Amino acid sequence: MINEAMYEYGSKSSVIRELFAYGLERKKVVGEDKVYDFSIGNPSIPAPPQVKEALLELLEEPAEILHGYSPASGDPEVKKQLAESVNRRFGTHYTADNFYMTVGAAASLNISIHALTDPGDEFITFAPFFPEYTVWVENAKAKLLVTPADTRDFQIDFEAFEKLISRKTKGVIINSPNNPSGVVYSEETIRRLAEVLRRKQKEYGTSIYLISDEPYREIVYDGTVVPYAPSYYENTIVCYSYSKSLSLPGERIGYIIVPNEAAESKRLMAAVNGAGRALGYVCAPVLFQKTVAKCADITGDIQAYAKNRDLLYNGLTKLGYECVYPQGAFYLFVKSLEPDANAFSEHAKRHDVLVVPSDTFGCTGYVRISYCVSERTILNAMPAFAKIMEEYKAL
Ligand code: PLP
Repeated sequence: MINEAMYEYGSKSSVIRELFAYGLERKKVVGEDKVYDFSIGNPSIPAPPQVKEALLELLEEPAEILHGYSPASGDPEVKKQLAESVNRRFGTHYTADNFYMTVGAAASLNISIHALTDPGDEFITFAPFFPEYTVWVENAKAKLLVTPADTRDFQIDFEAFEKLISRKTKGVIINSPNNPSGVVYSEETIRRLAEVLRRKQKEYGTSIYLISDEPYREIVYDGTVVPYAPSYYENTIVCYSYSKSLSLPGERIGYIIVPNEAAESKRLMAAVNGAGRALGYVCAPVLFQKTVAKCADITGDIQAYAKNRDLLYNGLTKLGYECVYPQGAFYLFVKSLEPDANAFSEHAKRHDVLVVPSDTFGCTGYVRISYCVSERTILNAMPAFAKIMEEYKAL
């Protein structure tokens, strides 16, 4: 017999992947430029030139070092350089010992959740949220509770959140800049979150860890500042990846930071190493460990995303769509033109516009548009968006 839970995860592909696969097939029929695929969050800007330069330089290194194993938690020199870079930016005092190198944010989260979880534990997140959280939390034999979205501004509904916190709460997962809303949590939100967590820890005599999922940390517009979560709350674990900031999603490289200020930080870091070992996530790709160390202070040229955001946001609001104003990431969250976002997504599909219904993010009534696409795709899609609006108005 095979494991039923794994069979389920493996045989049901995500709504996003299904739409993306549909788009690829549809393009073969009607032509590449006739399908407006806004389904997937694959960075459309190239990795910055420094990545190629770093790779070329590294390829001159002895092969047995370059392609050999590093220690399970990562190359100490790489971790030192990343710690120095983070310290310069956020005024922290990390050393290599606070870092664990991973194969992307997916692994960072999976490892962190496993490192914390005992049977019966609960994690809390905030809708709308990245759907894989459910898989990772359930696979660690814990339960994911979801705070409903505060659709006024997509910050946090603290009243609803507090009701979910209990003695069983092991962790709280946040993602800012957010996939799918594009919203960045304000300093006030992070301060209030820290205050609530401290109060609840005291009340229950427990430790509640804040897992900060930050693959979009550098992708912000209009000078928006993303509050650095560990500066506000000591029990924070940072889950980072270079998938978006350096446009390297296929290289699978990221890290976990366990700050010294976190409760039982030494034991927690040992548990992170243990979870990495148990899950088989040891020794992240060494070539890319070394590459990101050389590019630690660099971000891709996000101007193209900023331009796309303005084109889409201005274009759609002018047509009468209600959109959440995105300060970061590369997603626009748009109010569905009918209560059922799945039906709206199907309607848009008839015009070869592929948008993801928000139900998959734990929130009804919206669709996500990934604008990490070419400017041409957005411009060409506008008449279709106009037609869709006209059709709904005529109903
Ligand atoms: N967390 C969020 C919010 C994401 O959007 C993604 C990827 O899109 C991930 C985690 C996983 O990132 P990675 O590709 O680095 O594993």
